[in-house]
Amino acid sequence: MQKGFNPFEMAQAQFDRVAEQVGLDAGVKEYLRWPQREFHFTIPVRTDDGSIRVFRGFRVQHSDVRGPCKGGIRFHPQETADTVRALATWMTWKTAVVDIPLGGGKGGVICDPHELSMREQEQICRGWVRQVWKNIGPVQDVPAPDVMTTGQHMLWMMDEYETLSGGKFPGVITGKPVGVGGSLGRTEATGYGVIYTVREALKRMGMDIRNTTMACQGFGNVSQYAADLFIKYGGKVVCVSCWDQSDMTSYTYRKMDGIDMAFLTSITDRYGTIDAAKAIEAGYEKLPGEAWIETEADILQPGALENQVNADNVGKIHERAKIIAEGANGPTTPEADEAIRKRGIFLIPDFLCNAGGVTCSYFEQVQNNMNYYWEKDEVLAKLDTKMTNAFHAVADLAERRNVYMRDAAYMIAIERVATAARLRGLV
Ligand code: NAD
Repeated sequence: MQKGFNPFEMAQAQFDRVAEQVGLDAGVKEYLRWPQREFHFTIPVRTDDGSIRVFRGFRVQHSDVRGPCKGGIRFHPQETADTVRALATWMTWKTAVVDIPLGGGKGGVICDPHELSMREQEQICRGWVRQVWKNIGPVQDVPAPDVMTTGQHMLWMMDEYETLSGGKFPGVITGKPVGVGGSLGRTEATGYGVIYTVREALKRMGMDIRNTTMACQGFGNVSQYAADLFIKYGGKVVCVSCWDQSDMTSYTYRKMDGIDMAFLTSITDRYGTIDAAKAIEAGYEKLPGEAWIETEADILQPGALENQVNADNVGKIHERAKIIAEGANGPTTPEADEAIRKRGIFLIPDFLCNAGGVTCSYFEQVQNNMNYYWEKDEVLAKLDTKMTNAFHAVADLAERRNVYMRDAAYMIAIERVATAARLRGLV
């Protein structure tokens, strides 16, 4: 996390701004500004060299007024309690804006999976569950994968939960591998969801997706599938970027006549790092990490981490940019947000744009409950309908009230959560 930047303060500032605009009751506002519950704990692990390392873990439950808390678990060396709080808060707005009966939560462990064996990572997963298993579950709080966690991590967590609680509870966690409770389409869901909203935004702007280009930050789960569907729809992806662990620097890989997805994914590791030598050999320009934002493209898709579009680089956005589709959570700082608003770039805010993942997680839970699994086409068709409807509800409100897209999305989400809290008699 960048020094001096606090994502939770940013999440609260975004909320406060809209709470003010809609005249939210002061008590309701105070209630929704804070997580309902937090768990901070230690996870001791015996490492492969026989020593003990102690990791710090978190689970934050921001709101369960619309249903069980829902949100991923990150493994990241720069994880902090405030990052997890911010992400948990955004999950509440995300599940509300796409109108699925879930609340918001998030978890994390301060660790770097790059330097941990799979056995050590398994111990962290099992240790995390041992600390919170009484406070999570299919009807309480349902975790999922996020940055640097995968279906394998989820399965170890589910297994530990089932061992401790003595039953089969596939709905305790989502993002599981297909065949062991996972849903077809979950891997694609977030990135595809991003592009469903981009497709609809372009329609509203009267633009043909086949004549458009996109620049992506990141080349992990979100950006890979966003790029994949964008290209399938006929658009051109002109660059992607990634973090390179070998020299702790980020790079942009650019090809103005369009990246080749099959080739680029074949030279990318499971952490979303591209093999530089092979990319250069194939004619990709290797540029500094920030070059993605300056690249001439109609659509910018920040799909890596928070705080990536900020006061220092927002002025470098190319004049051709018409849409910013926030694949990542919290990629835009408040200063940059203001600049984007003033420039009139159409913004698809994170908690709407990347809601495809949680929506498909919800479908996974539904399938777990029924113990009956849908075909991939059925999952993706349902996902498309949810994302398209949510997108137009927000865009219609933004147009009707002449407000920024982020504010319109907040208005819809806050209204739904506040109404549920009021109806329950909590506030
Ligand atoms: P991932 O770990 O699969 O990929 C992250 C990518 O970002 C990798 O290519 C990595 O190299 C790159 N990266 C990391 N730091 C970078 C930097 N400083 N500059 C450039 N590239 C950098 O993660 P993901 O699942 O794709 O998630 C990306 C973002 O989307 C996160 O903000 C996450 O919270 C959010 N998100 C993910 C999902 C999901 O279902 N995976 C759902 C909603 C939101």
